[in-house]
Amino acid sequence: MESLSTKDIVKKYGFKFSKSLGQNFLIDNSVLQDIVDNSNVSKDDLVIEIGPGVGTLTKELLKKAKKVYAIELDSDLIPILNEELKEFNNFELVHKDALKVDFNELIGEEKSTKVVANLPYYVTTPIISKLLKENYKFESLTIMIQKEVGERIAAKPSTKEYGALSILVQYYCDVEIVRKVSCDSFVPRPKVDSIVIKLTKLLEPKVKVKSKELFFKVVRSSFNMRRKTLWNGLKSLGMKKESLEKAFIDANIDLKRRGETLSLEEFAKLSDCIYELQ
Ligand code: SAM
Repeated sequence: MESLSTKDIVKKYGFKFSKSLGQNFLIDNSVLQDIVDNSNVSKDDLVIEIGPGVGTLTKELLKKAKKVYAIELDSDLIPILNEELKEFNNFELVHKDALKVDFNELIGEEKSTKVVANLPYYVTTPIISKLLKENYKFESLTIMIQKEVGERIAAKPSTKEYGALSILVQYYCDVEIVRKVSCDSFVPRPKVDSIVIKLTKLLEPKVKVKSKELFFKVVRSSFNMRRKTLWNGLKSLGMKKESLEKAFIDANIDLKRRGETLSLEEFAKLSDCIYELQ
């Protein structure tokens, strides 16, 4: 039997899109295929999908994976998903806010877990932060997000996109841009373009630091005032001026540099030198 398209399913159930839930559903099969292919899902994998919508991407994942958990917040989509995906016995729906789910409970003893999603724009950054910071045992994250956010995640030092989000993601993952996606690939059509990126979790974080908390605090403080120097930004750490100055000297970092010029390795060195002097 020929699969119904996203538009057909929406019409069949008279589904009304919710703007506040970031509901822009994918209607472009080439993008769908690129997400599935790049996620490298096989019969050995557990897949966690965030925001299945009417299940278009879910269906393709179900054909490839050992099992798919799909986390959906919208109550109106639950009966639609249960009906449209009833032929699959490897499908389990989790009717919850993805921000409140303990992913390790879903992962359990699974050896290989991959997260795949066309994320709702309004919670992209909180979801990525949660997935990376809460130490979940997944291998990769293949996600479609707003283009600007994807460019910030992949950014290199000394570019205007480089910031705390680039460092957070690059600390934990290898970042690969899969493709750009036009806003015409969705219904309803969003105002902005999207990007598919693949984040592959590193076995160890990219840099070794004495205190992860302090490292991220230094990073956040450095980007809080983008137009000011790093020195001005880091005054907010509340250290004695002489100690902060010594930390800069020990780390071999010029006091006049701006946060956006520092590599991950330099942030690590500076935060370790600050750690020693606090
Ligand atoms: N996967 C579908 C597709 O590609 O067509 C839909 C993607 S749509 C951009 C985002 C989906 O996430 C919607 O189904 C929306 O209801 C759901 N959603 C929004 N906020 C959520 C949250 N906090 N937790 C789980 N799902 C959420």
